[in-house]
Amino acid sequence: MHEYMIGRFKYENEIFYGEVKDDRVVVNRGLYSDTFLLSDLQLLPPAQPTKIICVGLNYRDHARELNMAIPDEPLLFLKPPSAITGNLGKIIYPDASSRIEYEGELAVIIGKRCKNIRASEAGSVLMGYTCFNDVTARDIQKKDVQWTRSKGFDTFAPVGPYIADPTQDVSNLAIKTRVNGILRQDSNTANMIFDVPYLVEFISSMMTLERGDVISTGTPPGVGELFVGDEVEIEIENIGILKNTVVSQY
Ligand code: MG
Repeated sequence: MHEYMIGRFKYENEIFYGEVKDDRVVVNRGLYSDTFLLSDLQLLPPAQPTKIICVGLNYRDHARELNMAIPDEPLLFLKPPSAITGNLGKIIYPDASSRIEYEGELAVIIGKRCKNIRASEAGSVLMGYTCFNDVTARDIQKKDVQWTRSKGFDTFAPVGPYIADPTQDVSNLAIKTRVNGILRQDSNTANMIFDVPYLVEFISSMMTLERGDVISTGTPPGVGELFVGDEVEIEIENIGILKNTVVSQY
């Protein structure tokens, strides 16, 4: 694991960010710091975004798998902030769908309000990196022209567990998805068509990004079905492991 990991936690009635160091969490209070046992704290999703911006078809190997052309520019869509859940949060299988799927993705969390950021300066606006599962009701996605419903159900945006060092190079990281321990996606961020700096420039040229906003950078090959009771894990080298289970709506 990479050295620097920040979590968002709740303890009693207080919500705060702290640095995770093995089984401890160090909270910077300015003039002093507090140390908690990790096991004493409730882990929250790492951010409260005003919007979740996702990128469709952003891996060369996934485009090849689907027999689709490499896009000229990123295809963007939004997921609602209400879809967020954290590590170990439940993915609720909606009654409206009969086929939901995982999409393991590398996500970026924005650290400050920004607009018109050049790719070369993208690093200065990042809070850090995390794992994301772009859960999708595939049957509804095929039926609806717009993706709002298929991508927007509550709990369809698992994110976390922590925020990893924003200064690291994420252009060559292993990205894997396991379902019930079985490897289902196995790729590398080197296969991305549009890299993180390019995406920050492209998206911020269009919309103001706010602190906490999430950009999810697309999924590699091997997307597939989830069933009630499944445990799905997104693991990204140096970034972490995001684990969630699928439960019935009832
Ligand atoms: Mg996706």
